[in-house]
Amino acid sequence: MNDLLPGEIEVWQFVETTARTLFGRFGYGEVRTPMVEDTALFVRSVGEETDIVGKEMYTFEDKGGRSLSLRPEGTAPAARAYIEHSVSNVEPVSRWFYMGPMFRYERMKTGRYRQFSQIGAEAYGAKEPAQDAELMDVVVQFLEALGLTDVTLNINSLGDDACRPAYHAKLVEYLNAHREELCADCQQRLERNPLRVLDCKNEKCQAVAGAGPNVLEFLCEPCRTHFTDLQRKLGALGIRYVVNHRLVRGLDYYTRTVFEFIASHPALGTASTVGGGGRYDKMMKGLGGPDVPAVGFAMGLDRLVLLLKEGGKTFTAQPDLFIVAADVDAACQDAALALTSRLRREGFYVEFDTRGGSLKSQMKRADKSGARFSLVLGGDELRSGQAKLKPMAGGDLIPVALGSVAQTLRQAATQPSSPSSLKTQE
Ligand code: AMP
Repeated sequence: MNDLLPGEIEVWQFVETTARTLFGRFGYGEVRTPMVEDTALFVRSVGEETDIVGKEMYTFEDKGGRSLSLRPEGTAPAARAYIEHSVSNVEPVSRWFYMGPMFRYERMKTGRYRQFSQIGAEAYGAKEPAQDAELMDVVVQFLEALGLTDVTLNINSLGDDACRPAYHAKLVEYLNAHREELCADCQQRLERNPLRVLDCKNEKCQAVAGAGPNVLEFLCEPCRTHFTDLQRKLGALGIRYVVNHRLVRGLDYYTRTVFEFIASHPALGTASTVGGGGRYDKMMKGLGGPDVPAVGFAMGLDRLVLLLKEGGKTFTAQPDLFIVAADVDAACQDAALALTSRLRREGFYVEFDTRGGSLKSQMKRADKSGARFSLVLGGDELRSGQAKLKPMAGGDLIPVALGSVAQTLRQAATQPSSPSSLKTQE
């Protein structure tokens, strides 16, 4: 679990702001659900046999003797809220997004934390492949807006209740025949949840799974049509993808479409999946809610942040102006403080060292702050009402009346190298 301090938080804020803007543009409204839910919610939706529920949940009993869990993911809590507020009675299609911390007792590795952040979106009420495609488009545009281009979309279909049993039976038969080649975990998975063997990172298991039955060959007609339509729509959107018949994802609730976005950057090591999702048409009903189809995804913010940091951009805001109080007398200090306050009210990011000190030391701090301009305020400036803006990157001093510093800064903002406080820099 990590602390995020100023200096590091800015890249997170950039990701979050980009997400809010972009998801809003697609008509997704933000939902915030509690950090804790009844443990039973995750057992019934994510599935008891999954690693998440079986091994990784932070589960505790509250003072009322109820079993609660810190949420390990966001889809089940959102579905619970959707059911609890009878949203399907109010609107036929709902589009929601969420972002916030999730908790899983994971083994510590790069890109794998016990408290991590996810951004996710869910679309309820549309069973059509166009909805799957739209959702993938959200992710594609989100990654584009972040400037992350080296990410591959993998898609697959897991079929539905009509066709999956035949595939399941064939898979079990095949895996049983190769039982000895599987890792100990997979031998157990084979008993409880054979699909999960396809997820195993062990090379031997991957080799066995790769040569096994192909789920796509078992799809019934409606599932096959759904999958072909989806691919046509992705084509229409100009979204590149790879069909990966071994993609199953680690949760139990998916039907038909599943997808993952995989980054190829070495910084992520084995944690190369930046996000994924799929269709879960049966989950609402399974949780005692209405029979409403749904499709959703979740992306890991921590991994997106790792990738952005590797990209070498800086996200920290830099002051537009650093005001230096030239004299230690009270009048000058007060005037500098008041001017700083006034300019902040005007919308500028202005710094002023509340400790005062010598002109030289304050100039040093101005330099270090990364401010675009500094302005020295002393007795002369106060008497004449005139001061000079000093571009910190070099260049001529700009004379300015103390009453119109804001105006001059605003003019400077329209120049090509504008104040950087709201921008990212290469
Ligand atoms: P999942 O809910 O397991 O499908 O995960 C969706 C995304 O959340 C993954 O692709 C990761 O980017 C991220 N994620 C999942 N677990 C962790 C973790 N323990 N630490 C950091 N990111 C995670």
